[in-house]
Amino acid sequence: MLNHDIDDILVSETEIAGIVKTLASEITQDYKHKKPLVVGLLKGCIPFISDLLKELDFFLEVDFMDVSSYHGGVESTGDVKINKDLGTAVKGRHVILAEDIVDSGQTIQAIRSMLLYRGAQTVKVVTLLDKPKGRVVQLQPDYIGTTIPDAFVVGYGLDYKELYRNLPYVGTLKPAIYETESEE
Ligand code: 5GP
Repeated sequence: MLNHDIDDILVSETEIAGIVKTLASEITQDYKHKKPLVVGLLKGCIPFISDLLKELDFFLEVDFMDVSSYHGGVESTGDVKINKDLGTAVKGRHVILAEDIVDSGQTIQAIRSMLLYRGAQTVKVVTLLDKPKGRVVQLQPDYIGTTIPDAFVVGYGLDYKELYRNLPYVGTLKPAIYETESEE
């Protein structure tokens, strides 16, 4: 049913599984003796963090933050709002921020600076998808699953107006979907 709204599949289910395994082995090498705090940014991180965590074979803690920057549309506003904060203190901790996608970089940069201000010892960023063309701040994620073109994508956690998060792959929406919405 959801498939009908998809134009192109950019990252397939099989590709995602391979990417997650590669990322997990890099992170395991770097963190196996550090007992890090893995912080997922809701809601987009859910499928990614859940698959990633299962591949990380070392001691770690998990927490979540809910931040919003897009307010339901297709363009970043650059305005980062914290809807749900961490329940875990980060002072002295090694933190790994898990993101679905880095576009302008503003969201992750704001959260990273805030966690460092709160006393985190280190803050690194793992993202499934990177859209470097959209960057407006100087930020390079530490672990990048794959780089994609500057297009609005949905699926595997990523939404359009809160829908399509449950697609098992990442793709672009048919233009007709946006056109229908704007006529409503
Ligand atoms: P940034 O602050 O890097 O511009 O944006 C980060 C957030 O914007 C992501 O966590 C995600 O929620 C949203 N975002 C950026 N690009 C896309 C996209 O192509 N599709 C969707 N659905 N969300 C995006």
